Amino acid sequence: MSQSDSNRNPAANQLQAGTAAIQVSIPEVRHLIGGHWVHGSGPTLPVHNPSQGTVVTEFASADRDNVDAAARSAREAFDSQTWQGLSPAQRARMLWKLADAVEDHTEELARLETLNTGKPLTVTRSFEVPQAAEILRFNAGWATKLNGETRQVSLPGQWHTYTQRQPLGVTALIIPWNNPLVMAAAKLGPALAAGCTAVLKPAELTPLSAVRLGELAQQIGFPAGVINILTGLGETTGEALVSHPGVDKVSFTGSTVVGKHLQRVTSEHLTRLALELGGKSPAVIYDDADLSAAAQGAALSIFSNSGQVCAAGSRLYVQENVAEEVIDQIVKIAENLPVGDGFEPQVRMGPVISQSQQDRVLRYVREAAGDTAEVLVGGTELDRPGYFVRPTVLRVSDRELPVVQEEIFGPVLTVQTFSAEANISEVLKSMHDTRYGLSAYVWTKSLERAHRIARGARAGNVRVNSHIGMDPAMPFGGFRESGYGKENGREGVESYTELKSVAISIAS
Ligand code: NAD
Repeated sequence: MSQSDSNRNPAANQLQAGTAAIQVSIPEVRHLIGGHWVHGSGPTLPVHNPSQGTVVTEFASADRDNVDAAARSAREAFDSQTWQGLSPAQRARMLWKLADAVEDHTEELARLETLNTGKPLTVTRSFEVPQAAEILRFNAGWATKLNGETRQVSLPGQWHTYTQRQPLGVTALIIPWNNPLVMAAAKLGPALAAGCTAVLKPAELTPLSAVRLGELAQQIGFPAGVINILTGLGETTGEALVSHPGVDKVSFTGSTVVGKHLQRVTSEHLTRLALELGGKSPAVIYDDADLSAAAQGAALSIFSNSGQVCAAGSRLYVQENVAEEVIDQIVKIAENLPVGDGFEPQVRMGPVISQSQQDRVLRYVREAAGDTAEVLVGGTELDRPGYFVRPTVLRVSDRELPVVQEEIFGPVLTVQTFSAEANISEVLKSMHDTRYGLSAYVWTKSLERAHRIARGARAGNVRVNSHIGMDPAMPFGGFRESGYGKENGREGVESYTELKSVAISIAS
């Protein structure tokens, strides 16, 4: 084994979180290209611990040549059939083994994710790492079920006709920093199940869990070139990857502004494109709802992961006759939410990802505060190192404020009210009051209202009487400027295939 075949040079990092000493094993961040771990040739970038504001490691980012090598190795692995030539059951078993490996390393991966993102360890350990394993398993199951079908045609003569699904080829999988491991699994799972090969680009801020995932994939015997992983800045590494002529599909999760740019870039080669973009999702609470469940759900929807959730319910509309009661409850939840280092056991909300994200979130609040927005709670940083923003609730009366219209990606909830007499169309009009269309939440006991809102909502994901509902079986994706294409479900894995029709003349 050459020196570059192994990436195991972890730095053991001893952290002090409150009174606890935590050991985290940090992998060396190199790039997995054609089965080898190589140093990048681009500029050196830091990796931060956002809970402390410290640099935990550095890495040389991937430059254009590294990207080219990764795309070529994915092409070679695809064309040489080392992956798509395996039987579907063999591919399924490999993905299942990867899921098992993730699960077997739950504690290690959870600590890594908490170190790099600041999320509470309780969340990464009990939810995110297990979820990544489940997503891989769900997609493993599809490898054996990607069928075509025969068709009845009316052509003259006799025909045997059928459709067939084939893997798209080389995929570029670009992910953001808010759920690095889950997102890596959500992209790799369906791409690999379909028989594609992959170049995964984690966000430059959060490469650690993806690197460890790549090591695990290598250990369990994924053929060289099937999974390549490299990272660096979006405008250099990412740009080189999405514009590479050897890439057949770009699956991108990130901001709407970059998504629009990628639509232009990928048009050059008509590279297939899926866009999972930003959101500014509405939550509606009617007076007949279970108000304490609704207040709790509305609060968790925006404060989980410090608001850095694409589907977060960031705009709340409450029926005016119950508004004060609901707002009071949400403010109390915000005041009492333990915010701090994700390694501290009592913590329920960590920092935001970076200094610039902290500045951005606080700027939105500062600029909104005044005549038309009242800060009911939060709106400031914590008086300690790290990139913390207190859970924030703003009562707003001007629907055009940037804080209402733009995705903040922080723990900031805007609250507006609607009249007791409002009809469904008026409520839907408020819900549709931004350019986004990712998720929508409604809290009511009326079945009729729930169905009418679910039907009328211009959003890809509607939840009734709950703020959760993400499951690998449920297609997830946006309407309008929240993007297009679906992740999860049958639709997710099929999006990594091309559909072909075959017509065989069997008698003229
Ligand atoms: P971002 O768009 O800045 O970056 C996302 C990824 O794209 C990163 O890996 C980045 O390096 C890369 N990138 C940036 N510019 C690029 C370019 N020119 N070419 C290729 N790659 C490029 O987004 P972010 O700030 O990292 O993440 C937050 C955004 O992600 C939010 O808008 C959030 O709503 C969105 N998001 C959407 C979903 C969803 O499923 N809809 C899920 C999570 C996050």
